Amino acid sequence: PAGGGGLSVRDLRVSYGPVQALRGVSLEVPDGSVAAVLGSNGAGKSTLLRAVSGTLRFHRGSVTAGSVEHAGRPLTGSSAPAVVARGITQVPEGRRVFGRMTVAENLRAGALGVRGRKAAAAAREHVLELFPVLAERAGQRAGLLSGGEQQMLAIGRALMARPRTLLLDEPTLGLAPLMAARIAETVRRINAEGTTVLLVEQNAAMALSLASHAYVLEVGEVVMSGPAGELAASDEVRRRYLGEG
Ligand code: ATP
Repeated sequence: PAGGGGLSVRDLRVSYGPVQALRGVSLEVPDGSVAAVLGSNGAGKSTLLRAVSGTLRFHRGSVTAGSVEHAGRPLTGSSAPAVVARGITQVPEGRRVFGRMTVAENLRAGALGVRGRKAAAAAREHVLELFPVLAERAGQRAGLLSGGEQQMLAIGRALMARPRTLLLDEPTLGLAPLMAARIAETVRRINAEGTTVLLVEQNAAMALSLASHAYVLEVGEVVMSGPAGELAASDEVRRRYLGEG
């Protein structure tokens, strides 16, 4: 896709019926960068990703104001398949893979919208190179993989659509530290290869180590933002999100 622009969210408001989950959120993820969104349970992190990925409607939510733009073009209100076609894929919270399908079938499902066999084969090759264990387990049912392997599969499936921007919802949640570190390393590499990343994390230390810029969400609003290094050094962030003091 031509043109830069990255992902840009402006004054976004989202409601689930009477519940207002986002109260005017703005953020910028420059093309090729990693941005992190931190915040405690219920702050609105998943809602933000759903609003971008077009999956809000599956949760009975709707955008009531504001806009989302990707690569310089408006995206607000697009359906999930339209968002994928525009180069954004989401790795959902809870590493939801198709448990009864094989690893290979899960990956194929991620490539459904991809035009051309060659492009799909190249994507598959890239994913299996990132996660060799997925090649070893290609014929196995996804439900039998370990938690970390399922997260790799969920990321791999999202990469099959060759996204320009990847949305990651709590990719290390519930993983052992060593596995979490491996996932973090993979995110770093995916970004180094040119993919823009919007990362939602409760693991603030991990998120701040990956991101160049971070936003702190509280009750549907951005209460703090800045270069990740600055947030990591802030007393309030250290106390509230890094569990210090
Ligand atoms: P978590 O890490 O627990 O997922 P979060 O920061 O991602 O938290 P959201 O899941 O986006 O937060 O929730 C934001 C607010 O919207 C919360 O008050 C939550 O109760 C509410 N909410 C989320 N999903 C729905 C829904 N489908 N229907 C009604 N309210 C919802």
